[in-house]
Amino acid sequence: MTKCCIAGCGPAGAVLGYLLARAGIDVVVLEKHSDFLRDFRGDTIHPSTLEILDQVGLAERFLKLPHSEVSTIMGRTAAGQTVTFSLARLHTRYRFIALVPQWDFLEFLTSEAARFPTFRLVRNAEVLGLIDREGAIRGVRYRDDQGEHELEALLTVGADGRGSVTRHAAGLPMTETSPAMDVLWFRITRRQDEAVAIAGRLGAGRVLVMIDRGNYWQIAYVIAKGTAEKVRAAGLEAFRRDVSSVAPDIADRVGEIRDWDQVKLLTVRADRLDRWHRPGFLAIGDAAHAMSPIGGLGINVAIQDAVAAANLLWKALSEGRVDDVDLARVQRERQFPVKVLQGFQTFVQNRFLKPTLDQTRPPTIPLGARVLARVPFLRDLPARFVGLGIRRPHVESPERQVYTSAHVS
Ligand SMILES: Cc1cc2nc3c(=O)[nH]c(=O)nc-3n(C[C@H](O)[C@H](O)[C@H](O)COP(=O)(O)OP(=O)(O)OC[C@H]3O[C@@H](n4cnc5c(N)ncnc54)[C@H](O)[C@@H]3O)c2cc1C
Repeated sequence: MTKCCIAGCGPAGAVLGYLLARAGIDVVVLEKHSDFLRDFRGDTIHPSTLEILDQVGLAERFLKLPHSEVSTIMGRTAAGQTVTFSLARLHTRYRFIALVPQWDFLEFLTSEAARFPTFRLVRNAEVLGLIDREGAIRGVRYRDDQGEHELEALLTVGADGRGSVTRHAAGLPMTETSPAMDVLWFRITRRQDEAVAIAGRLGAGRVLVMIDRGNYWQIAYVIAKGTAEKVRAAGLEAFRRDVSSVAPDIADRVGEIRDWDQVKLLTVRADRLDRWHRPGFLAIGDAAHAMSPIGGLGINVAIQDAVAAANLLWKALSEGRVDDVDLARVQRERQFPVKVLQGFQTFVQNRFLKPTLDQTRPPTIPLGARVLARVPFLRDLPARFVGLGIRRPHVESPERQVYTSAHVS
């Protein structure tokens, strides 16, 4: 029996595991994969997350990992119209988004957590369902190389992402707001003289987001939901032409896309549990509210859920009792910011992306965005909203743990 079992070691599970272990609580994190090297993992570590890392003394070490720092979010149309938002004036020590491959971020966090003796990460351990006894969740059933097992826990946390098995098993009611878009995801070499930025690009019926990853651009080509087959059927040459038409500056490199295997389809969904908990069970991160990629908010929101959960639950866990009232407090604390941020994503999706993809609006930067970017009093609002979020929690769970000798090195 462990105090806390966390299903899934994405950003939410890794941060919660770290914070609880740091507070001296026995925690087991079960991750179904053997490593974090999935092709798709968002990479945007916002100032709000850097502040959290700073609060636990990890920011400096984290920023020693190879990364790019981006202070500019840019929109540009194929016709040359531009709009720029800067994070450089934010009231925080970290006035940039750190772009770090997410596998490096998760490897870093879990190796820091592993220095606490009460932290255990089990890889290749796929959670299959919940142990449900007398109306309360008492742990999980999972499978690894040795077969199927049960792990009993005082609290089970579902941090297993947008396809969450645990939230399904918990039977929690959900509101689905599936966005009308999907993403084709691929890479193109980045020249060292190209601006370091996150760049949104607009063309007729086309939207592209380019994320600087040092020696290559990670590119999200946004398509209307369910149209991936149509794009593929039109052929690679047409695809390369489309990419060049919206981002002419990389036209000399689109030939690098030689095979559809290099272009991954990412299905976008957005939803939110109406209730995030049951006795003995709490869902956080995408398992509680799948986030659309708009604004690159999802990782940072998932991490804020983890911080709020650790703040509100560490004491009860250390005393060996967690009741439903404690779990309800986590939902109460987090559901407002999540609703506002998902509302923002839906607004951008419906008022801007969808009409651009459907070609019912011309590919121009919206007037509202241009005004926002120019008025001194307003121009930092978007950067603050995206970079710092809403009602961001601060780490309040204590450091009670003695590091193992590995930490001394
Ligand atoms: C196309 C697209 C692009 C995005 N880009 C960005 C971006 O650039 N920046 C950003 O901030 N957000 C982005 N997001 C959103 C972001 O990916 C999520 O909001 C964020 O990853 C949620 O973190 P999480 O820890 O809750 O879940 P996840 O990151 O999904 O992690 C869940 C973990 O649980 C594991 N798991 C799943 N099922 C089981 C099981 N049964 N047993 C054990 N383990 C299991 C998974 O392997 C995974 O490691 C994007 C989303 C999409 C769809």
